Amino acid sequence: MLSTGLYEDFPTLKMKINGKRIVYLDSAATTLKPKQVVKKLEEFYYNSYANVHRAVHTLAVRATTELEETREEFAEFLGVFPQEIIFTSGTTMAINLVVMSLLRSGILKKDDLVLVSLLEHHANFVPWLRLSKLHGYRIDFIKPSGRFGTLEMDDLLKHRDKNPKVVAITGLSNVTGQRIPVEELRNVFPNSIILLDGAQLIPHEPVKPKEIGVDFLAFSLHKMLGPTGVGVLYGKRELMEQMEPFLYGGEMIDRVSLEDVTFNELPYKFEAGTPNIADIVASREALRYLKETGFDSVHEKIEQLTQMALKEMMKIGGVEIYGPLDERQHGIVSFNVKGIHPHDVAHILDQEFGIAVRSGHHCAQPLMSILKEQSQIDFPNSTCRASFYIYNTEEDVKILVEGVKKVKEWFSR
Ligand code: PMP
Repeated sequence: MLSTGLYEDFPTLKMKINGKRIVYLDSAATTLKPKQVVKKLEEFYYNSYANVHRAVHTLAVRATTELEETREEFAEFLGVFPQEIIFTSGTTMAINLVVMSLLRSGILKKDDLVLVSLLEHHANFVPWLRLSKLHGYRIDFIKPSGRFGTLEMDDLLKHRDKNPKVVAITGLSNVTGQRIPVEELRNVFPNSIILLDGAQLIPHEPVKPKEIGVDFLAFSLHKMLGPTGVGVLYGKRELMEQMEPFLYGGEMIDRVSLEDVTFNELPYKFEAGTPNIADIVASREALRYLKETGFDSVHEKIEQLTQMALKEMMKIGGVEIYGPLDERQHGIVSFNVKGIHPHDVAHILDQEFGIAVRSGHHCAQPLMSILKEQSQIDFPNSTCRASFYIYNTEEDVKILVEGVKKVKEWFSR
């Protein structure tokens, strides 16, 4: 069971929108922050803040220690070496780093094949696509063939014999909430470099990259109670040692002469410039909060809320819900109400019921096109998306379901 103290820890939950208690269902975009994380930021800035790795004075040593302890805590969380943890500004930067570095080091070359799924957020789609135009590697797509953008095992197996150099895929779709069988990826693609976008998966389920055998794993702390501007990239040491850095500057070098430079050791080789010190350190507090709450309880609670929402929403006529609609769907319910623009639905839910849901294409336009192909209703290139996290309750789901019913009723008058 999750503690009732949760409510107290998230002051935003006390907010009212037009007199109604806020029902925050937009955690897939970003989560609310507990007091502990915000307090840590203040405490760190006032007592331990200085630039890291460079000076010998007390404050600098304190800041460096906190930063490096945070790295160690993330390494332990993922079951990897601290040298394999690179701090970035988020998932987007982490993925761009991987693509650029693979290219610069000649690991990914002209005519190689990169496989990208069509479930991807643009962060794991646009870099691969654009750079294929500039660098001449081939790109192919894993198309989900199941119900409303559901990726089936056969969709992966179809590409097995193509021997791609890189496979880039999300662990959990930010549109449909489908959890991908990430444990199968290594079996299907034994020789490929596998990049797993964990932006939606890791906040719910801390998979261990070495156990499932992926080479890169990226996620953003702001989607798991942490501050904005912090991403974690796990990269397999043997691979990262061969890779050319993405950013050049201070901290990432060993020796600089007029002829050339040599690089610092891992992970610093990939962390040019002053890092986002305070936010990284406060991320540790977010991770601790989740660990103390227990990832199993977090998962179980969100599972219950998702299944409850799916069951109740499916009873409302004229509402189309996207994704597998079974146990593979986790934390996210994307839907449209027949004949009503998703922005109108989201706006009314907000103004009349205090419900915060996202509406739009969710930075996944290729997947939107697939949903439209299968849709029974005519909808614009967007959906409404309700997403859950640890502070949501069954009451929130009931308010959402009642809200959607009312929106539908009002528009059909
Ligand atoms: N991948 C997925 C699956 C996401 O949901 C998101 C955020 N919506 C991203 C990547 C990008 O994350 P960020 O904006 O934190 O870089």
